[in-house]
Amino acid sequence: MSSKPKITVLLAGPRGFCAGVDRAIEIVEKALEKFGPPVYVRHEIVHNKYVVDELREKGAVFVEELDEVPEDVPVIFSAHGVPKAVPEEATRRNMIQLDATCPLVTKVHVDARRHRKDGRTVLLIGHAGHPEVVGTLGQLPEGEIKLVENAEQAKTIEIENSDNLSFVTQTTLSVDDTAEIVSVLKKRFPNIEEPRTEDICYATTNRQAAVKVLAKDCDAFIVLGAPNSSNSNRLAEVARVAGCEKSILIERAAELDLDWMTGVETIGVTAGASAPEILVQELIDLLGDHFEVTVRDVAVTTEDMHFSLPRALSA
Ligand code: SF4
Repeated sequence: MSSKPKITVLLAGPRGFCAGVDRAIEIVEKALEKFGPPVYVRHEIVHNKYVVDELREKGAVFVEELDEVPEDVPVIFSAHGVPKAVPEEATRRNMIQLDATCPLVTKVHVDARRHRKDGRTVLLIGHAGHPEVVGTLGQLPEGEIKLVENAEQAKTIEIENSDNLSFVTQTTLSVDDTAEIVSVLKKRFPNIEEPRTEDICYATTNRQAAVKVLAKDCDAFIVLGAPNSSNSNRLAEVARVAGCEKSILIERAAELDLDWMTGVETIGVTAGASAPEILVQELIDLLGDHFEVTVRDVAVTTEDMHFSLPRALSA
């Protein structure tokens, strides 16, 4: 008989890679096949070190700015999207450019530009400094989109022409926090125009919904994801708010402090949209070294979203 303590792992579903991340990784892989290494990628293609390291091994070179890219090699823009000035500069330099911006982020960009064309002031609900927010703000001339980061700011933001106002959001926010911010804005600005379809993407929504369902039955929750991954951070917060105070975000199983597991009988596990399933398996294997593990898959919904590749790579 095993002398290891027993533990039940509730695996949240859906978890891990979304269609936008799958597409972005495939764009880098196909570009490497088509053009041969090196291909340059502006910013981490997705926020996950494991993914970035694997692509680096295959010949991808990750840089932060276009001026680090030589003229005669392809450059790929990351899934988070880029300010308009970036592709404009690449075109000016005659670079081979491939856009891995998730189509759901592009939809937000298109909406922001449409609002401005129609004469509306645009608010962006999102976190300052995140590359997706930098990219969306950069769709219009500097200062034209006003950032709202939380409900407090929604309560105090001053708008000159508040009858002609609209908002868009970052795709990877907390569904509940955003609903609170939107409700404040709607109370203050009843005519504010909201997105025709939700900007928080299906993957963010589904992963948070799954965590919410499981959290109340768990003594602890582990989210696998990068510290700079917005949607992964939100998953750990959602678990806490939904009743599982003991929730952490880790990048790899090796970071897990086994003392932290003391007294835990049921643990929830999920992975952010940029974290590959192999990292979930790695965690379960590590738990198996120390516990008698029973794994239960708990899926709240299934996903079948798929995005096509840019024409230059789809042939
Ligand atoms: S998290 Fe959502 S918006 Fe971001 S890449 Fe995935 S599907 Fe696209």
